[in-house]
Amino acid sequence: MKNFKIYFYLNVIKPIWMIVGLTFLFNCSQAVFNSPQITEYYPQNIILFIGDGMGVSQVTALKTVEGVIALEKFKQLGLITTWADTNYITDSAAAGTALATGYKTRNRAISVSLSNEPLKTVLEYAEERGKWTGLITTKSITDATPASFAAHVDNRNNQIEIAEQLVQSGVEVAIGGGLSYFLSASQEGGRRTDEVDLIAEIEKTHIFIRNPEELSDLPDTQGVFGLLAMNNLPKATERSLSLGEMTEKALRILSNNQNGFFLMVEGAQIDPAGHENNYEYLIGELIEFDKAVGVGLAFAESDRNTLVIVTADHETGGFAIAGGSVKKRMIDKPLFASGDHTATMVPLFAYGPQSELFEGIHDNTFVGKAMIELINR
Ligand SMILES: [Zn+2]
Repeated sequence: MKNFKIYFYLNVIKPIWMIVGLTFLFNCSQAVFNSPQITEYYPQNIILFIGDGMGVSQVTALKTVEGVIALEKFKQLGLITTWADTNYITDSAAAGTALATGYKTRNRAISVSLSNEPLKTVLEYAEERGKWTGLITTKSITDATPASFAAHVDNRNNQIEIAEQLVQSGVEVAIGGGLSYFLSASQEGGRRTDEVDLIAEIEKTHIFIRNPEELSDLPDTQGVFGLLAMNNLPKATERSLSLGEMTEKALRILSNNQNGFFLMVEGAQIDPAGHENNYEYLIGELIEFDKAVGVGLAFAESDRNTLVIVTADHETGGFAIAGGSVKKRMIDKPLFASGDHTATMVPLFAYGPQSELFEGIHDNTFVGKAMIELINR
């Protein structure tokens, strides 16, 4: 009888349990392999945050000092290589072109090929699709990064031409510095050599402001061109209007369009802080940039139809952390290996529909190509 029980267990009960158990394990493994789910759901809106000069060490310093950061809410992460077509160390023009168009070019070129043919940008595709678009920066709006999305010139120094092209580009929201490039020769501070009045041109279609305090009171129903300084905006710790507040206002305006929008937000002064090897300047800009990312993320979390991408065009300063304290939330040995950009890969964060696309190691051109593909769906 005892032997029969053992026989029954080994030959009948155990195989049944094994089948049940294996089926359970198989289903669990399928669930694991299937996540994150590759969805067939495409974003209507894209917000691209560019921390100009923000490498992995910069993000580490931010995390050390702030404790909890918006960037760590992202679950889809990657790294991108940043070199230009003809330069191992890229500048913001070639890198901006790669992010905006999906093509590599030479340093100083703004969304034109090596043979100076214009390369169509994600912002231009978005406009063509009836989406509204926006550019926000803490330096001049005519500087290389924002320019790469809405202008085509063979040299980034030609900011007068970039200003003209920005006015013609169809962007609904433009906020940053750079007023002097829009003013005529006879207007105070104007850098133009002729009497072309670009501000009058802007006012035909947009509300124009030059005072940061005016932005929050504007209606959300009309396009805004805010040129809030002659050249760059003040440093983060001295700005009366934060990058987060600019982002929030832009989202209120752009989200009124039923066809969706594309918005680029640049934390532009992370880069000069790196060039100057100035840690205090750097950390101030990083904290402000992360808060703006938090604004974009909060919008995407409630909207559920928005892809948020955060990346950098390159690393600046060869920044390294040789000492600090998590408890005291401080870095006491910031080191800089360079006064220029470096070739190190930079982080890529993505949240929202199709964010899985951005996982892994990619070239910077992949970001531009992927955004254009998503905009055109
Ligand atoms: Zn730079």
